[in-house]
Amino acid sequence: MEPEKVREALLKWYDLHRRVLPWRGTHDPYEVWVSEVMLQQTRTETVELYYGRFLEKYPDVRALAESDEQDVLKLWEGLGYYRRAKALRQGAQEVEAFYDGRMPHTYEELLALSGIGEYTAGAIASIALGEAVPAVDGNALRVFSRLSGFEGSVDTAQGKNALRNLAKQCLDPMRPGDFNQAVMDLGSGVCTPKNPRCSSCPLKALCACGSPEKAERLPIKKEKKKQNIEEWDVLLIRQGNRIAVLQRREELLADLWVFPMQRHTGEELVLKEGVITCREVRMAKHVFTHKIWEMHLWCLTVTPQFDLLPEWRMVSIDQLDELPFPSAMKAAMQEARKLMEDAG
Ligand code: SF4
Repeated sequence: MEPEKVREALLKWYDLHRRVLPWRGTHDPYEVWVSEVMLQQTRTETVELYYGRFLEKYPDVRALAESDEQDVLKLWEGLGYYRRAKALRQGAQEVEAFYDGRMPHTYEELLALSGIGEYTAGAIASIALGEAVPAVDGNALRVFSRLSGFEGSVDTAQGKNALRNLAKQCLDPMRPGDFNQAVMDLGSGVCTPKNPRCSSCPLKALCACGSPEKAERLPIKKEKKKQNIEEWDVLLIRQGNRIAVLQRREELLADLWVFPMQRHTGEELVLKEGVITCREVRMAKHVFTHKIWEMHLWCLTVTPQFDLLPEWRMVSIDQLDELPFPSAMKAAMQEARKLMEDAG
């Protein structure tokens, strides 16, 4: 691979074909940070819907540091991977505490903040601060492994380091932010996981693959673990004009709100005293990275005397809108609204 030629060809292409995105053009490290955290594991089009709203509510580090976590999660609702939002807020609190609310100015200092890994620190430092460091995420790993014909596994520290070094060699010290964003754009629109558009790629002549047939074999990854399927009963329990919800304490979706859930056993729900009606209304499915939830949604109407569990909170339909719910509860939420509306 010829690093200088890669750099030149990529930047030339980027100057003509760069994507227009709401976070492009900003050199504010906080704004770049927010965009990069949102973009992790999430499609650009989805992030476009959230980025502006988030900055409107939390325009700077201090505003985020002083925010209420539940409000942040509510604004994040639907973006998924809620741990990112918590870590972002935690990082903002660290900036407030240790840097008096001003973002640190080097890659190394950024890396020490909560929720900022090598990729995010590289993106902020290069895009906002002009520091000559690479930003290597999954897309960049794919691009550099194909460019160099790298046959090692990209899941290992060794593989990642080798490709990170390659990225470093190619990086333009005068335009590190543009170079890293050019790699991101190439990975997202040209050197895609499936059907890469090699014939219109600016790096075709410099690439060890150069054709979709060769490219699709790379990068080499360890086989993914199969996702476990978990079956749940989700209980929409209406009492008068209120419905039962609870805040999760488990690691997955911690602190978000859900409807009461219990493992599905395949048996009819045992009706307790005080249940007026109980019926299964539909199935819903949610795919997480490591597991799949298959959910049986049940609508129950109960009497005022029905025994409520202490961890449940009974809320009105308006209060439902104020709490942060994960996307996994989307179908349940629709049914809950119907149930509440039917009851008038
Ligand atoms: Fe990727 Fe194909 Fe371009 Fe090589 S030529 S960088 S495989 S799109």
